[in-house]
Amino acid sequence: YGDKMKNIIIVATGGTIAGSGKVGKATNYQAGKINIKEIIDSIPMINEVANLKAIQLFNVDSNEMNEEHWIILANKINDLASQKNVDGIVVTHGTDTLDETAYFLNLTINTYKPVVLTGAMRPASATSADGPINLYQAVCLASCDDALGHGVMAVFSSTIYSGRDIQKISNFKTDAFDQKDFGCLGYMNDDKVMMFSRTFKKHTLQSVFSEKPITELPPVGIVYYYAGAKPDILTMMAQNHRGIVIIGSGSGNYSQAWLNEIETLAAKGIIFVRASRVNQGIVYESDVFDPHNVCIPSNTLSGQKARVLLMLALSVTQNTKEIKRIFNEY
Ligand code: ASP
Repeated sequence: YGDKMKNIIIVATGGTIAGSGKVGKATNYQAGKINIKEIIDSIPMINEVANLKAIQLFNVDSNEMNEEHWIILANKINDLASQKNVDGIVVTHGTDTLDETAYFLNLTINTYKPVVLTGAMRPASATSADGPINLYQAVCLASCDDALGHGVMAVFSSTIYSGRDIQKISNFKTDAFDQKDFGCLGYMNDDKVMMFSRTFKKHTLQSVFSEKPITELPPVGIVYYYAGAKPDILTMMAQNHRGIVIIGSGSGNYSQAWLNEIETLAAKGIIFVRASRVNQGIVYESDVFDPHNVCIPSNTLSGQKARVLLMLALSVTQNTKEIKRIFNEY
C-alpha cells in the first residue's frame, strides 16, 4: 500500500453484513442490527491495511433504501471524498438492492478516489459469516492505487465488480453477484488487488449527474410484462409517474395492446424505457415493438438500473432523443 497507510472511511448502511440471528444459522435473521464498529472489531488485521474511520449513516435492511437514502448517501460520500485527507470510501450495504445503489452512486459521485460497496449473504452471527472477509477486501481495494478511476465498484466473494453492471444472481450462495455478460473488473487475492478490465461507460467525474448535488428525483415506476398482461397497469402507473420502465419479454417486447397504450401515454408526455426480463443480452431499437420510436431502449441495463438512469436523465432533460443518447453513454 505504498509507504504511508491510506485513510479510509467506512460508511455503514446496514444489510445482512450487520445482521443478527440464531448463533450458527445462515437464514432467518434480521438485517441491519449490528453496529459497524463491532463488525470492524471482528476482523483480524484490518487495522494494518488502512487508518479506518467508521460512520453509521443508516442501519437498515436494504429493502428500506429509497431515493431519499440515495441522495443522503451520495451527498455524504461527495463530502467525504472532497476532503484532502480521505483516500477512499467503503460502503456496507444489504445485498438485495446493492445493484441499484451502486449504479446511482456510480453516476452521482464526483471523485476519482475509490468508492467500494460490499455486504454479506450470511449474518454476522452465522457459521463462516462472509461479511468480515468481504469488508476486509473492500478496505484493501479502496486503499489500492490500482482502484483509482474505475468509478464506484463492489467487492463480493473475492471478485471486483463495476457499479454499472453488478447484479445479484443468487439469493442463497455467498458468491451472489455477477456482471451480466461482462465478466468482472478483477479479483482479490487475500489483500492483493488484481484488475483485469475497465468499463467504457461514463461514471463519476465524467458523469453529468455528478456535477451538482441531487436534491430530488422525479417519480419513475417499473412494470413487468408477462403473457396475457393487461395494459391497464400502464394506465395506472402513468397517473403519478413521469417515466415508466417496462420490463418486457425477450428483447424488451410486449403485446400489441401494450404497444397501443404505450403510444397513447407517450403522446401525453410519459417517457418510456424498454428493458428486458431476460438477464443477459441487449435491448435495442425495434421497428416491431416500437415502430414510432416513442421508447428508449435500456441497452444492457436491468429494469431497476434503467429506472435509476431514467430518474437522473429526467432531472436534466425531457427530450426523448437526448435521453436515448444518455442511455448509450452511461
Ligand atoms: N435483506 C438483506 C438486505 O438487503 C439481504 C442481504 O443483505 O444480504 O439488507
